[in-house]
Amino acid sequence: MSQGNRTKELQEEILKLKKGENIFLPAHNYQRPEIQEIADVLGDSLELARLAQKEIKADTIVFCGVDFMAETMSILNPDAEIYVPEPKARCPMAMMCPKNILIKAKAEHPDLPVVLYVNTLAEAKAEADVICTSANAAKVVKALGAEKVLFGPDKNLADYVEKKTGVKTIPVPEDGYCIVHVRFAPEMILELKRKHPNAVALVHPECEMEVQNVADIVGSTSFMFNYVKESKEKEFIIGTEIGLIERMKREIDGNKILIPASEKAICRNMKLNTLEKIRDVIINKPKENMVKVPEKVAEKARGALEKMFQLTK
Ligand code: SF4
Repeated sequence: MSQGNRTKELQEEILKLKKGENIFLPAHNYQRPEIQEIADVLGDSLELARLAQKEIKADTIVFCGVDFMAETMSILNPDAEIYVPEPKARCPMAMMCPKNILIKAKAEHPDLPVVLYVNTLAEAKAEADVICTSANAAKVVKALGAEKVLFGPDKNLADYVEKKTGVKTIPVPEDGYCIVHVRFAPEMILELKRKHPNAVALVHPECEMEVQNVADIVGSTSFMFNYVKESKEKEFIIGTEIGLIERMKREIDGNKILIPASEKAICRNMKLNTLEKIRDVIINKPKENMVKVPEKVAEKARGALEKMFQLTK
């Protein structure tokens, strides 16, 4: 059987199982295209967090993304049964910010609010005053009205927020980063701009400031998606994980030319989820694939997430 037929067959099998069991399947923009095609909803961290806030009328959620996203779903939906196709799909950036370094930073700066990127584990979120996403980080920090904040774990997003708001960010840890987005270099964007002088260059705020400085627009994946969709321009250089471009190709007017800033911008952690694993988790519901944040931690983390929703209403 060809690979294409095998993919189709697995997709059909999952859709059938999903319908029979009332399963909800959300997926992040960086998931493999064959998963994106059958997801109930696609989005970035903010969109998926907002979705988690809503009442989901499904008995079970199979969440396709990385660990912290499924945890966020669990924090905001404590009664839902949540599974992940692959428990090893973890975000290295989230692991750079364990709760003990936050406790230390808070002791050193007891008067500063703690703003944490949603790309953190639940135990870290429980130490935060407020959570933000790349889509709303500047808005959240500005709304706090503070002159200085502790901000973790992404140093590049912290720099972006500082530039946008004028609020001083103290990064926790000092050098947290996304292993995918730091691979972009300013020369890559400049070279593509030379080759495609009419293209608009969009990059993610997880890219280093030197890269952000040579781009035309800096924004989250949802922002990039909507920008390209609505724009009257024809050519775009896209500086983020390749999965977003797959989604754009499928959902946006085919006359638009999408140029990846790097074909190698692949988050291997996101790609650990596969159709086979989704099918198997639906059938077997293994305990080790279940995500349930303990209520003691979830309660504190929920407060920080709700503060984000409140500040960005
Ligand atoms: S793209 Fe970067 S921040 Fe997102 S899950 Fe992968 S490593 Fe983490």
